[in-house]
Amino acid sequence: MPTEKRCKDCGSTEIHCQMLAHWDAEEDDWVMGTPVDPPFCGDCHSFEIEDVEAD
Ligand SMILES: [Zn+2]
Repeated sequence: MPTEKRCKDCGSTEIHCQMLAHWDAEEDDWVMGTPVDPPFCGDCHSFEIEDVEAD
């Protein structure tokens, strides 16, 4: 079952997260690393994010 992240405050699924990426020469592309901050809501900027099972 896939999960999605949802804002507890406004119910938005527009969740953002700042990631630390590094350049991978073999991939010739940016590779995402670990999150540098907790995920936050793109609509109301709340940090109250919950994991829910997607339909
Ligand atoms: Zn929100």
